[in-house]
Formats: sequence, structure tokens, C-alpha cells
Amino acid sequence: MKRLLQAPNLALATLWADMLSGAGIAASVQRAYASGIAGQIPPDQALPEVWLDDEDQMDRAQTLMRELDDLPQRHWICSACGETVDGPFEQCWNCGALWVTGRCA
Ligand SMILES: [Zn+2]
Repeated sequence: MKRLLQAPNLALATLWADMLSGAGIAASVQRAYASGIAGQIPPDQALPEVWLDDEDQMDRAQTLMRELDDLPQRHWICSACGETVDGPFEQCWNCGALWVTGRCA
């Protein structure tokens, strides 16, 4: 197990882990707890993290995340749940609905 990155929220961490798994890279979401007693951890130290099962896949995973970063940023409203989605995502991070476009529906 090796930590790939820290995500700003659990929904995004889950989305990234799903994306990595879809690309054949076994990944899971872990809740990052700093050492200390649960409940006394500052919120910014309890962010979810994406971990890889196999650290040999780290390079590939980082490349994938960079490619995700290079995608055009979008700003859209999910038609299923009304959530605002920012970033290069074609899927609503809240409910999982797909962004419907003219080219692929
Ligand atoms: Zn949605």
C-alpha cells in the first residue's frame, strides 16, 4: 500500500479511486488520521486519501492524475441532483449521474 494523494473531500477521493480502478490500477480510499485521538484532529488533517494497493503502479497512477488535470475545466449543474460540478469531470461527484453532451449521451 502506498499513498497516491490527498483529496479535498470524500466524494472526489472515491471518484479518483474509481477512475484508477477502471484503468486497472487497484486503489482505495483511506481516511487520513493524524496521530492523536479521534475527535481532536483538525479537519484539514482528516482528509480522505487515495492509496494504491501496488506501489509499482505509482508512476502510471500519477500520469493518469496529471492527464485528468490537463483536461479542460468544466462548470456544470447536474440535471439529476442539481449539484454544481467543477473540474474536468464528466460525472457528478455527488450522485454519479453522467454529464450529457451532444457528442456522447
Ligand atoms: Zn448529481
